[in-house]
Amino acid sequence: MADAKKNKFKAIIIGGGPVGMYLAHALQTTGIDYVLCEKRDAIPPSTAFGLFLWPHGLRLLHQVGLLDRTEAISSLLTKITHAGPKGDVMREYSDFGFIHLAHGYPVRMFDRASLGQMLYDALREPAAHVRTGKQLVDIERRAGGVTAHFADGTREEGSIVIGADGIWSTVRDLMRRDAPEGLFDAVPFSANYRAVFGRSPLPSRQPGSSSGLELEQQFEFHRDGALLQLFTSKREVHFISYLKLDQPRRERSGFDETIDASDAAVAPWLDTRVAAATGLTFRDLWQTRAAAGGANLDEGVVRMWHWGRTVLVGDAAHKVLPNQGMGANGGFEGAASLVNQLTALLRHEPDPNAAAFAAYQAERQGVMGAYRGMARDELAGWTREGGRRWTRCVRRIPMVSRAVRLDAVPFPGERVGLAGWGYKVPAEAARAAGGGPKL
Ligand SMILES: Cc1cc2nc3c(=O)[nH]c(=O)nc-3n(C[C@H](O)[C@H](O)[C@H](O)COP(=O)(O)OP(=O)(O)OC[C@H]3O[C@@H](n4cnc5c(N)ncnc54)[C@H](O)[C@@H]3O)c2cc1C
Repeated sequence: MADAKKNKFKAIIIGGGPVGMYLAHALQTTGIDYVLCEKRDAIPPSTAFGLFLWPHGLRLLHQVGLLDRTEAISSLLTKITHAGPKGDVMREYSDFGFIHLAHGYPVRMFDRASLGQMLYDALREPAAHVRTGKQLVDIERRAGGVTAHFADGTREEGSIVIGADGIWSTVRDLMRRDAPEGLFDAVPFSANYRAVFGRSPLPSRQPGSSSGLELEQQFEFHRDGALLQLFTSKREVHFISYLKLDQPRRERSGFDETIDASDAAVAPWLDTRVAAATGLTFRDLWQTRAAAGGANLDEGVVRMWHWGRTVLVGDAAHKVLPNQGMGANGGFEGAASLVNQLTALLRHEPDPNAAAFAAYQAERQGVMGAYRGMARDELAGWTREGGRRWTRCVRRIPMVSRAVRLDAVPFPGERVGLAGWGYKVPAEAARAAGGGPKL
C-alpha cells in the first residue's frame, strides 16, 4: 500500500470490548492508523461471565502475534458432559479434542478482564491510541471525513467510524437517524430466552481436597425449557442458566445484578449435583459466586451494517445466543474481514468506505445468520429433559475451517489441522493440498 495513501486514512473505533480491541490489533498489524474510544474508565471489563474462544478466534490472535500471551491467561476446554436435572451423567464427549485435531488450535476459556488487559498491553503505544471515559454521543459528517463527539465535550476526527459498541450500539442509532426511514430497525433483536450467568471460585469441599469438579470441562444439565451450563477454568467455574420465555420479547433490556436464589432460572438448579463424586451442588457455587446477573438473550442479525462513513462490527451487527460461544469469535472474524476489504481498497483508493463496507457485509452477514440459526437450533434441543437432541459441536468444523484471516499479514507459523483452512486458499497451497480445503 502506498504510504501517502495509508497515512491519510484513520479509523475511529467506538467500543473497547473484545471485538474493538482485536480490531485495533488487526488495524495496527496492517499499518492502518486508528484511535479507539471506550465509554468505560478502563479497558479490562469487570464482567459476570468468561468467554471461550474457538480455534478460528485463537488463530486470528496468533496471526497478530498474541498466541503465547493468549495461552498464558486461558485454560483448555477438552470434554463435554451431559447430565439430567439432578446431575445424573448421561453422556460424555471429547468433541473439543476433535476440534483441536481438526483445526490445529484448541478451544480456550478466558476471564474477560485478563483478555481485555492482555489485548490492551500488547498494543504498540496503547496510551496514544486508546481513550477511555469517551462516550460517543454524535457523529458529524464533513467533507472527506467524520467527527465523533463525546459526552465530555471532546471530539475525534478521522476517515471512518467503526461501531464496535455492542448490542445497543450508539453508532447504529446514529446511522438510523441519518439513513432513509425503514433501513434500520430501532430494536433489531428479539429474545426467546432469558439467562442468569455468573462465576464462582473453583470450590474445594475441604481445604486441600478436590471439589470433584473436573478441570477443562463443559457440563450441560438438561430439563424441559431450561439448561444449565458450567465451564471450569484454572481458577473459576463459569455458569449460564437458560430459561425459555413464555413469548418472544422485543425491547431494549439491560443486565440485572439484583438476581437472587429465588429467581426462576436459579431455584430449580440449586440441588443439582454438579460433581457426583463429592456431592457438590449448584447451590455451593451460587453461594460463593464472585459475580452474577441476569439478562434477556437478545439475538438477531442487523439488516444493514453500514451507512455513509460508518460501519458496524461485533454484537452491534449480529447477536447470537451464547450457548455456542460464537459471538466474539464471529466478531473477530468480521473485524478481520473489514480490515481485509479496507486494506485491498487502500492500495488504489485514498479514501475507501462504502465499497469496502458492502463487500465486508456481503462476506459476513450470511455466515453470522447461519451461526445464529445453529445456536438457536442447539439450544432448542438442549432445553429438553433427556430428549437426546444433542447436536454435537463438531458440526461446526466445516464452517470454522473456512474462517477469515488477515490477507495482508504473513502467517508463517500458522497451525493447520486435519480439516485445513479453506478461506481464500492461495493457488499454490491449494495445488499442494490436492485441490483445496478438505471439508
Ligand atoms: C453469558 C454470555 C456468555 C458468552 N460467552 C461467549 C463465549 O464463550 N464466546 C464468544 O465468542 N462469545 C460469547 N458471548 C458473546 C460475547 O460476549 C459477545 O459477542 C462479545 O462481547 C461482543 O463483543 P463486542 O466487542 O462486539 O461488544 P461488547 O463486548 O458489548 O463491547 C462493547 C463495548 O462498547 C462500549 N460502548 C458502548 N456504547 C458506547 C458508546 N456510546 N461510546 C463508547 N463506548 C461504548 C461498551 O462499554 C463496551 O466496552 C457471550 C455472551 C453472554 C451474554
